[in-house]
Amino acid sequence: MTLKLDINPIKTWLPKLDNPLLISGPCSLETEKQALDTAKLLAKDKRVFVYRGGVWKPRTRPGSFEGIGSIGLKWLQMVRQETGLPVGTEVANAQHTEEALKAGLDVIWIGARSTASPFVVQEIADVVKGSNVVVMVKNPVNPDVQLWMGAIERIYQAGIKNIVAIHRGFTPFSETKYRNYPNWQTVIELRQLLPNLPIICDPSHIAGKREFLYEISQKAFDMGMEGLMLESHIDPSCALSDAAQQLTPADLAKLLDRLVIRHENANNPDFESQLDVLRNRIDAIDTELLETLSSRVDIVKKIGQYKKDNNVTALQINPWTKLMEDRVNIGKKLELNENFVKTLFQLIHEDSVRMQTEIMDKE
Ligand code: PEP
Ligand code: MN
Repeated sequence: MTLKLDINPIKTWLPKLDNPLLISGPCSLETEKQALDTAKLLAKDKRVFVYRGGVWKPRTRPGSFEGIGSIGLKWLQMVRQETGLPVGTEVANAQHTEEALKAGLDVIWIGARSTASPFVVQEIADVVKGSNVVVMVKNPVNPDVQLWMGAIERIYQAGIKNIVAIHRGFTPFSETKYRNYPNWQTVIELRQLLPNLPIICDPSHIAGKREFLYEISQKAFDMGMEGLMLESHIDPSCALSDAAQQLTPADLAKLLDRLVIRHENANNPDFESQLDVLRNRIDAIDTELLETLSSRVDIVKKIGQYKKDNNVTALQINPWTKLMEDRVNIGKKLELNENFVKTLFQLIHEDSVRMQTEIMDKE
């Protein structure tokens, strides 16, 4: 179901924005000097539009640095005064939200652990009612698009129209290359559900390590995301949280220089007509694919009837294993991705077994 919420484009509250929205600043604010020195360097780069700084830090285990607390809000005010950048922090309960609004922060965001809790989100929504703060909603730690959308709706129902979703990846089941699994599919689903909701990416929390920031940032632009939140620190090696994923402002600039910004449309008639030609070919190939699948289904059903007549099971492991090996080998020769071929034939086979079982269970 597509929901037509009247959410404002980012340019409504950041009229000077002429590029993707770039939010940067430390994972955690640590000292007044660290907050201001980082901000002054960032502000020199005209691509940075909002300054972030964590004040209350939701740490997985107790005992690690849990944030500097309310004093950090004063440093954020100083940053805004010195640099002119809008400033924001994460809030995780009603009290944080009240303090952030009282300090006049321009942006607040709901962290991944909080988005996963509708009670917490509602508590925050009740406080922001009637304000014109920008609220950003990170995805929940689990890839549940409904939970993410539910949090956005709660904020929207509180009368907030300046909303942005932040994709920061999902807790993986086991150790993976990245700290959090990107699962881009969930972002596509959110875009389909809420077509006019701006979505930005937080490569820092997906990557967990500096070396992966570039590839994730570029992928975010390739996917049409409207901006990035990238953590930066005047001296990442001394950072009290997320040291391995923060960049110096100078390294941030280098990363931004390498990124190619893509647009949903090229506004170039030649390009559009070339694209149309290619899309028409894809349409024809897809139709052929479906017709071929339909012929396959006819044969699968015949086999099902034949098995039934001879009291043979629908699922026959040996031929199935052999079929899969064979298809993967053909796929390899055709330079198709091995996982893709496996997943495709698992699906095809699953449906074949379903059809044959149905034939056997009739009467
Ligand atoms: C953060 O932005 O510093 C943070 C804690 O993010 P997340 O909620 O994505 O873990
Ligand atoms: Mn962080």
